[in-house]
Amino acid sequence: MITVTRPRILVVGAGFAGVGCVRRLERKLSPDEAEITLVTPSSYQLYLPLLPQVASGVLTPQSIAVSLRRSRRYRTRIIPGGAIGVDLASKVCVIRTITDKLLNEPYDYIVLAPGSITRTFDIPGLTDNAYGMKTLAEAAYLRDHVISQLDLADASQDPDERAARLQFVVVGGGYAGTETAACLQMLTHNAVKRYPRLDPKLIKWHLIDIAPRLMPELGEKLGTDAQEILRRRGVEISLGVSIAKAGPEEVTFTDGRVIPTRTLIWTAGVVASPLIATLGAETVRGRLAVTAEMNLPGHDGVFALGDAAAVPDTAKDEEGAVCPPTAQHAMRQGKVVADNVIAALRDQPLRPYRHKDLGLVVDLGGRDAVSKPLGVELKGLPAMAVARGYHWSALRTNVAKTRVMTNWLLNAVAGDDFVRTGFQSRTPAKLKDFEFVHAYMTPEELRAQVDGKGAAGAAEGTAE
Ligand SMILES: Cc1cc2nc3c(=O)[nH]c(=O)nc-3n(C[C@H](O)[C@H](O)[C@H](O)COP(=O)(O)OP(=O)(O)OC[C@H]3O[C@@H](n4cnc5c(N)ncnc54)[C@H](O)[C@@H]3O)c2cc1C
Repeated sequence: MITVTRPRILVVGAGFAGVGCVRRLERKLSPDEAEITLVTPSSYQLYLPLLPQVASGVLTPQSIAVSLRRSRRYRTRIIPGGAIGVDLASKVCVIRTITDKLLNEPYDYIVLAPGSITRTFDIPGLTDNAYGMKTLAEAAYLRDHVISQLDLADASQDPDERAARLQFVVVGGGYAGTETAACLQMLTHNAVKRYPRLDPKLIKWHLIDIAPRLMPELGEKLGTDAQEILRRRGVEISLGVSIAKAGPEEVTFTDGRVIPTRTLIWTAGVVASPLIATLGAETVRGRLAVTAEMNLPGHDGVFALGDAAAVPDTAKDEEGAVCPPTAQHAMRQGKVVADNVIAALRDQPLRPYRHKDLGLVVDLGGRDAVSKPLGVELKGLPAMAVARGYHWSALRTNVAKTRVMTNWLLNAVAGDDFVRTGFQSRTPAKLKDFEFVHAYMTPEELRAQVDGKGAAGAAEGTAE
């Protein structure tokens, strides 16, 4: 008897890029043309650009966690876990499931979309003492943490402890850091009204960046406007400055200032997922070097995109330009990569990715925003309308859209209750704890696992 097996397409990561790809594959391929598998540690697609609004309590965490299983039309097999190594030679991806089992998953086509992790530097004390803003758990944790600082400062009889708890430092003047500082400052500004014993003047937010300007991608005028809005709201902005040392109770800036604080938030850029390094292929500043068709040169059937890949930006004239790590690119690349996987499957030519940046929207909390859609510079309410309208329309499901809209309306009418849930209060929560950066395999471990001599000793087993 001859068994005809369908080609196996394995997609790694359920973010903007991975989900964009899977949904298109499901639509365009008939079930008997290929088997589609998705590896992801969580059962949702996280709408990261709205994360600062979860931290500030404007949105609930569930509203930006878009279900992967909402529709009965979705037929992809989902493996709950993370890919920890890819062996290109034997076409096997090693997966650690959420129950810690190791699986060797063979593929014919692989789409690598594991996104990025927070970029850190060799700064003493950084990963042990800073909080990140890259996962839903981090955003929810930070909200609780900031409210707990107000609670503890309110209860304290020690003026030094009070001052330290009411001082907050955010590092990173890109859009993620600026939105985080702006939204959380808005949270403390509104919350302190419920603490009559606390002097609002004691609350200090610092936003620092080594670059000379905030959000350079917005251009000089809007960057300066954003800076003025934040300064008016009392955020102290220090440019050309970074962190020299971080401790549990104080942070030392590179200009020598020592800031007593219990809150250091680190959002100074991202770097491709450590999964990319396990391939042993060429990278461009950590992102996998791919062609404009998002194919790995010399490896037919291997594709990479989103934050994890250096996809040439063919819409720019500059030589060597690569697409910036944004959701805007990742979701569009997802669709093109799906088309290219299908083309490869059907022996047709691949098409290059090309997208001209639509601009940037930055929500600074309350009625403050700056945005530059299609090159038009906006601030205040028009910018806010564009920012919220853009994010709202980019949410993948109608349920998510309804949840977000309801949250926005409820928040506008009833405000926030500044409740600390405490769900995660006993979990380790610093930079090193949330992004599983040490979960990946070395080339030797990967080879042993694929050859059946790994910790699991077989195609499936339990990790040590
Ligand atoms: C606070 C913040 C604000 C932002 N604001 C904007 C904005 O306003 N506009 C904009 O365009 N962009 C914004 N971005 C950037 C944008 O979110 C990213 O560029 C985008 O999410 C990249 O998409 P991706 O699919 O490559 O990665 P992601 O969306 O991060 O998805 C990666 C997925 O892979 C999963 N994964 C990770 N490792 C593995 C593994 N080993 N195995 C399997 N799965 C894995 C993750 O769990 C995740 O589901 C923001 C980012 C942040 C953090």
